[in-house]
Amino acid sequence: MDKALRGLERISKAVGVFPDFVQGGGGNTSVKIDKELMAIKASGYRLEQVTPDDGFAVVNYRNVIKYFDETDEKDDVVFEREGADLIKQNTLHMEGYKALRPSVEVGFHSILKKFVIHTHPVYANILCCSESGEELIAKSFKSSGIPWIWVPYTMPGFYLTYRIKQIIDEYKETSKSFPQVIFMQNHGLVVTADDAEECIELHTKVNNVIKEFFNISEPYPEIKLERRGDSEFVGETEFTVNYIRNNPIDLGFFGRVLYPDQIVYLGDDQIAIDEISKKINIITETGQVIYRTGYLESRTIEETLTAYLYVVHHIESNGLKLSTMSSEDINRIKNWDAEKYRKKMVSERK
Ligand SMILES: [Zn+2]
Repeated sequence: MDKALRGLERISKAVGVFPDFVQGGGGNTSVKIDKELMAIKASGYRLEQVTPDDGFAVVNYRNVIKYFDETDEKDDVVFEREGADLIKQNTLHMEGYKALRPSVEVGFHSILKKFVIHTHPVYANILCCSESGEELIAKSFKSSGIPWIWVPYTMPGFYLTYRIKQIIDEYKETSKSFPQVIFMQNHGLVVTADDAEECIELHTKVNNVIKEFFNISEPYPEIKLERRGDSEFVGETEFTVNYIRNNPIDLGFFGRVLYPDQIVYLGDDQIAIDEISKKINIITETGQVIYRTGYLESRTIEETLTAYLYVVHHIESNGLKLSTMSSEDINRIKNWDAEKYRKKMVSERK
């Protein structure tokens, strides 16, 4: 178990310290300890906080696999309810460890290989949030030898696991191999391998293939935040400041929702333009963003905002079209209990 947990820490830190791979508390990782138990990043923790002693929950994934093997397609609301019960019943409370809640994405981790890295990388999301994303992946990964699948947008949670399982089963049937890379439309990337180092390398390779495809050679912008007061911070990330100054930004701009994390952290009800009246206050003349909240939440939002602008910039400057979430899907996320929980944890942790 200890070796597995050190592997979990290794893969979590390998991606968790980079804001181009994960923003704030986003993304999650897992390791299968044996034929029954899996350790998965806990909800409300940042990937870089995962250690062999803290930041994960232990789940009986065997029972999760069994559930999906025996389950036919059903209404997503029923899936969510049954899934929540299933996870509650199969989360173990290990002596000497904190009782934490597993990541909401525990379902698809269960059905993959030993190590799983799920991130929201800006590079993969240029493709996952473009209308021609799937075609461009086929083109850019053709000669890479990487086995991948594309999953159309599905609400995170148990229905998503069901969809992923279906697509994996079809892939295995036709290709006689396991797809180690999953592109999730309007969401992000999943990579899986039986070895920790292989998993990390695969994650790097996938993003590098995309960077090369789009000729991205400059380093990702360094996230900068300046303290102004007890709970007031100013975003100073150069790329973001310049983007805001040089592009027409209004509330409609943020109405183009690319993925669930944008709704959680950059909701238009929390943004004010050219006045200071909300949690996120964007000053278009100077390009500054003034956050009226604590450090950790300000940082999470600055990371999420920068990632969003970066993805939009690369999609548009390559002449591609944004693929946005429907208002129906946006409302589902807004009403979703598990995300609220994550958000609450993030704003409480100082
Ligand atoms: Zn995710």
